[in-house]
Amino acid sequence: MKTAQKKLLQWYEKNHRKLPFRITKEPYKIWISEVMLQQTRVNAMLEPYQKFIKKFPSIKKLADSTEEEVIRHWHGLGYYSRAINLQKGAVYVRDNHNCVFPETYREAIKIPGVGPYTARAILSIAYHKSYAVVDGNVKRVLARYFLFDKNVSLPTSATILQEMADNFLNRDNPSEHNQAMMELGATVCTPKPDCKACPVQSSCLAFQSNKQNDLPIQNKNADKIKINMKFFLLDYKGKVLLIKDNQRRFFKKIYTLPFLIEGKDLDNSYQNDVRFTDYLNSINYQCYQFSAKHSITNHDIAVSLCKSSIQNSQISFLNNFDFKWVDFEDIRNEFPSSISDKLKTLMKKYMEPSNHLEELPLTKMLALKQRFSKNK
Ligand code: SF4
Repeated sequence: MKTAQKKLLQWYEKNHRKLPFRITKEPYKIWISEVMLQQTRVNAMLEPYQKFIKKFPSIKKLADSTEEEVIRHWHGLGYYSRAINLQKGAVYVRDNHNCVFPETYREAIKIPGVGPYTARAILSIAYHKSYAVVDGNVKRVLARYFLFDKNVSLPTSATILQEMADNFLNRDNPSEHNQAMMELGATVCTPKPDCKACPVQSSCLAFQSNKQNDLPIQNKNADKIKINMKFFLLDYKGKVLLIKDNQRRFFKKIYTLPFLIEGKDLDNSYQNDVRFTDYLNSINYQCYQFSAKHSITNHDIAVSLCKSSIQNSQISFLNNFDFKWVDFEDIRNEFPSSISDKLKTLMKKYMEPSNHLEELPLTKMLALKQRFSKNK
């Protein structure tokens, strides 16, 4: 084994975080963790991961569940297509591999939702196959260690970085090596690297050239898009309305409280459903002055809440939508996003009569809002 790889493994053995998906060799658990980690930070995914594994402890359990059940237990992770693909993948493995994750790349890649990265990660970590993985953290380590001075965001760079990772792979222990690279990127070779604590400092080309803070070169983050999301708590006989709409910009796959999006210079993909806007114009509702912050990919979102009771005569309108009525207490389960937690906290904390604006139809409220923003 080469010196750098050996040092890396020794460092990993002593220093790695005891994450539940790093102390197992079960391909199913590694599969779930890798999919969750694709869009979610470790700290944010740990609790949902444990709950998900508890609810669906095996490929068979996941495959035998309904899509809605799986989405519900994806609570707080967002990007629900990942949950849907995972379930489809589990059905595929149940039906084609007798509930055992396949051991070859050729078979693994056929599983719905399993791309090259996920296949490499599962096969190397669970089955010790010689595949190197390159996630965002590993990319940073490689770019620095090999002094890669091209933009790492370019597709051509991805091929070169994968080749570097393949060449650097410790083929005697690909499982620990890959995990060590990921851990090094997550805890030491971070955006502000702690080179003093790094096991491969002596052979790192960026460190030798004092360029560790200049690499990797990547696209600057685009400015975040600022929007307001106004959620509506519409109740009828003690139940709360949830709507699902696969045409809207956010939350296409899950039931949510109905919402409107507001913001400057937004393109058509943010457009509100005109039927719903018209409907709101026809009812009185109260909007609360409090709001919460949320973010979805490149969006900064101010979340606020409005409330109204629906009358018998206004019910038939809902036949235009995919909707359901739920108990207020069940909102968190039925609207499985961390945004529902924020809304619920706000509701409980602030829904006092003194906190709401005067009852206003939507058009008047928007006009008022515009006037306020002009005066700022
Ligand atoms: Fe990263 Fe510094 Fe280690 Fe190089 S020496 S791999 S820049 S932490």
